[in-house]
Amino acid sequence: MLNVVRKLVIVICAASLAWQPVALAQPVGIPSIGVTSSSDLSPSLERLLGDAIMEQGRRDPDYISDPDVSQYLTSVGRKLARYAPGAASQKITVFALRDKQINAFALPGGYIGINSGLIAATESESELASVIAHEVAHVMQRHIARGMTQSSQSGHIMLATIAGALLAALAGSGDLAMGVAAFGQAAAIDRQLGFSRQAEQEADRIGLEMMRKAGFDPRGMLNMFSRLSRSASLNEGMGGSVYARTHPLSTQRMSDIEGRVGQAAVNHKDNVTYWFIRAKLLALQSRNSQEQTRAAEILQRETGSSNNMQRNAANYGLAYLSFIQKKPEKATEFINNISASNGSIAQVDELKILLALDADNNKHALDLATIAWRNWPSSQSIALTYVRALQRNNNDNEAIRFLESRIKQWPDMAELYQRMAFSLDRQGRGIEARRSMATYYELTGALPTAVEHLTQARNMTDDFYVKSELDVKIRELKDRLVSDRALLERFKL
Ligand SMILES: [Zn+2]
Repeated sequence: MLNVVRKLVIVICAASLAWQPVALAQPVGIPSIGVTSSSDLSPSLERLLGDAIMEQGRRDPDYISDPDVSQYLTSVGRKLARYAPGAASQKITVFALRDKQINAFALPGGYIGINSGLIAATESESELASVIAHEVAHVMQRHIARGMTQSSQSGHIMLATIAGALLAALAGSGDLAMGVAAFGQAAAIDRQLGFSRQAEQEADRIGLEMMRKAGFDPRGMLNMFSRLSRSASLNEGMGGSVYARTHPLSTQRMSDIEGRVGQAAVNHKDNVTYWFIRAKLLALQSRNSQEQTRAAEILQRETGSSNNMQRNAANYGLAYLSFIQKKPEKATEFINNISASNGSIAQVDELKILLALDADNNKHALDLATIAWRNWPSSQSIALTYVRALQRNNNDNEAIRFLESRIKQWPDMAELYQRMAFSLDRQGRGIEARRSMATYYELTGALPTAVEHLTQARNMTDDFYVKSELDVKIRELKDRLVSDRALLERFKL
């Protein structure tokens, strides 16, 4: 039974281990760490910790780096966060993980991870928004920060373990396994912390209000609750109602939300992007041909949906799956099944460019990408695909010019600097290429590697001004490394 409880609770909210008392007394023999109150984990320290965890997380093979997915999920998260009560404590960043288990979690620093399996299980954008809203509420109410520093012994140990692993990574030991382990630990933080019932209820209620104000259908949260409890009990091969009756927390949470949602219908029209991202993830989450076959079955079934957005997205998902399987003709067939009723779709345009690039049809790819960029000037994914097409056509001048504008548009988007370095390098501009790579590493939190690239750049020039400019930057990063280490040392056991 414990396992069932645990599974369902994790499902309904990664952050609630209901059967574990939260305020454990500090057992004798557990050394106290130097943190005693939430004020010690200020938002900026929390962000630093989150950045350090994410630096490792991005290297996790299950991390989905597709900018299309992250940009969409993050836009939903930020749209909701605008309606959070009080001042924003963190900038929200939402990413997806390749994992069929239905789960979502919040990390320190405003990072929220959503498993691909959870997104695939939703059947409307409001359902997905309800999960993101709940996690955003945990972040904004500073439940993570408070939980790690105050509430429980497990929070302390967790934080100490992460700090230890991150220190090893910062030392440049290059121990990837260690770093990934730290990410795994971090992903489990909220599960291990076991938020209080009040915290869970607060996250539900605030999440619901944010949903309402952001224009989503509040009933999405109720649908999600029942969908999750059904799928969890199916997994356990038990009747769903048994669990729902015997688990007071979930019943309590559900009836609390039920009372608040009310009967008034809200007409939320799903963003078409939701359906296409969901279909992309159904294709992307398959790890082997068996899972691909299973995903194809699901998508095939959805091509018969009465919802035309879902139908079109399912054909796109099948096309994307065929692209992954290196079956371009099949991919094109599925693309042709997409009706024009939803207009032009950024995801479909991107896939057409990728297919052209794969076929070495570079001129055609660039033509398609030029039109796509004109149609989707706010899509990071299309921007990157356009740069790839330019680079394939050896048009590095235009790639650099384009990237300079995109860097002004999205200064925090690390991939832009990586692409920029590629073109600069091909033009023999080695110093600038290394500086650009240094920025890429700085943005992804890999400070020691950033310093390495700047040092290489410094060694390539005799120009006094360039040298001293680089020296300033190198010193700045080294100082940051020292202060990051000092911070993490405080959390070590
Ligand atoms: Zn929660």
